[in-house]
Amino acid sequence: MHQPNAQARPSLYYPYQVFKPWLPSEHPAPARQRVTIVGSGPAGMVTALELARHGVPSVVLTSELQFSQGSRAICFTRRSMEILQQVGVADRMTEGGLPWRFGNSCYRGQRVFRMEAPHDPDDRFFPILNVQQQYLEQYLYEACAAQPLIDFRWGNKAERVTQHADHAEVAVDTPEGEYTLHTDWLVAADGGRSALRSQLNLQMEGASYEGFFVIADIRVDLPLPTERLAYFDPDWNPGNTVLMHREPHGIWRVDYQLPPGESPEQALRPEVLKSRIDAQLAMIGHPGIAWELDWSSVYSARTLTLPDFVHGRVIFTGDAAHLLPIFGVRGANTAFQDAQSLGWHLAHVVRGLAGAALLRNHSAERVGAAREIIAEAGKSVRFMTPPAGGYELLRNAVLSLSLTQAFVRPLYHWRTSRPHEYTHSILNCRTDDDAAFESGPGHGAPPQNVKLAENDHLLDHLGGGFDLLYFTHGSAVPADVVEAVQLARGQGVSLRITAIGAASAVTGADQTLPDVQGRCRLRYGVPADGAAYLLRPDQHICARWLKLDAARLQDALTTALPQ
Ligand SMILES: Cc1cc2nc3c(=O)[nH]c(=O)nc-3n(C[C@H](O)[C@H](O)[C@H](O)COP(=O)(O)OP(=O)(O)OC[C@H]3O[C@@H](n4cnc5c(N)ncnc54)[C@H](O)[C@@H]3O)c2cc1C
Repeated sequence: MHQPNAQARPSLYYPYQVFKPWLPSEHPAPARQRVTIVGSGPAGMVTALELARHGVPSVVLTSELQFSQGSRAICFTRRSMEILQQVGVADRMTEGGLPWRFGNSCYRGQRVFRMEAPHDPDDRFFPILNVQQQYLEQYLYEACAAQPLIDFRWGNKAERVTQHADHAEVAVDTPEGEYTLHTDWLVAADGGRSALRSQLNLQMEGASYEGFFVIADIRVDLPLPTERLAYFDPDWNPGNTVLMHREPHGIWRVDYQLPPGESPEQALRPEVLKSRIDAQLAMIGHPGIAWELDWSSVYSARTLTLPDFVHGRVIFTGDAAHLLPIFGVRGANTAFQDAQSLGWHLAHVVRGLAGAALLRNHSAERVGAAREIIAEAGKSVRFMTPPAGGYELLRNAVLSLSLTQAFVRPLYHWRTSRPHEYTHSILNCRTDDDAAFESGPGHGAPPQNVKLAENDHLLDHLGGGFDLLYFTHGSAVPADVVEAVQLARGQGVSLRITAIGAASAVTGADQTLPDVQGRCRLRYGVPADGAAYLLRPDQHICARWLKLDAARLQDALTTALPQ
């Protein structure tokens, strides 16, 4: 019988709440479910919220009674915030978060590189926002709890899965024993140690690196701005790297590499932790400052992915599908993109609006994203913790040259998580004018946000289905285009027309956004009235035209929803 921990977890900054377990005896016998999600981390909860936006109910099973423990994600990217805005939690994140955009790399007491993450006036969100993962999970849970299409079950552990031709059967253990749940689709969002992945005997591809890092979250009052700090080869930890991040609630993360041969147990001994953290604080100019430990753990970098995320009726997502190093803040930031993608792809299959090809596309796109991230992350890991002689020689050459030579300094650049472009997706229209545009986001690219007015951005108005952006100063969307949209809607496709440019409401459009300074036109590379963009429900571009007509729109929709 599953007995989850019912004691509130200790924390210096997060007041844990223990939720009541969901017990089978208190509910009617379960009917067959359409989608069941195992895991309530960022991947599981965003998938549930996205499915609900597309009208698909889901059950979320989570083995614990509380949010996650200890040091987990703290840095969330702009694209993640745009996704979180779609599921309704961006404001909560922004309220308590610490935004930032500068990173400093230091060597021999000198700042040798200052990274500035681009921040455009058209962006609503900062490049990175620091918030502890427990808060993120709380905000996502509150959104799930407020959503009638989500049946959230605390203290329910998925024990075993059996696959059938048209559904999966899950044995779920609870504090009062097991019950069986039948579900058309099972989403495995059960994290890096995914028991479902082991049960299906799936192998990941990629690499595991040797170096170990201590991650310590400490409460300390440091009068420093919210910027990323990286120290290479510090005197107190020769040859190794130390990172520091400011977190909300007076917490700092100190992240340092262990000398070769030292075990995690040795490194986590209180006196060893204390002397090293004291040494780091002294090195940055605060010797003897008082601090308190919240949590410490040891971490090693892995760059691994499943080569396919869909296995029969079981779909892997987030850390269950891939394991990414924390340098470059990729785990949760990638999980949001996975979940957003899975939400709309699966919803359209469940609702009969597309065939299994759409799910195969989800897997191909997100495996492609994972492989790209792994290639980039591998470069960062090899710089932070060189695995062999050649890499070490190169890294040391960069370090010493950077003291006097500006040209090597960009090699310190820390490749941060960024959204993958689905350039070669089968969902991209083959008959549109993509190649004829001189600028603007092309096939597969994420959307470009545009500031329309104070506290009003283009992306605030989009999402939840396909979006057709129609650029016009005229008074009406062409009647044949409106008819094609209505036809698609009649078949159940959620598709909204947004007219951009006109000062007053455009007939046939669901909404009209003025483009007083022409910034939308500029950012989307639109040369003249009548041009249009089609955005998928995850807001990536799948078609764009210099001149749109009904036949061209229909062709793009047929391509984007393969049967
Ligand atoms: C020290 C550290 C720092 C990090 N920093 C960052 C960062 O700054 N930015 C970033 O993007 N990422 C970061 N990450 C990575 C991030 O924490 C993970 O990538 C993210 O939590 C993955 O989300 P997930 O939903 O896939 O898995 P998880 O968050 O691991 O969630 C898995 C869920 O499944 C549940 N579960 C497991 N097994 C079962 C079962 N059998 N039945 C029911 N439920 C089950 C668990 O209880 C949990 O709710 C960091 C990670 C670490 C360790």
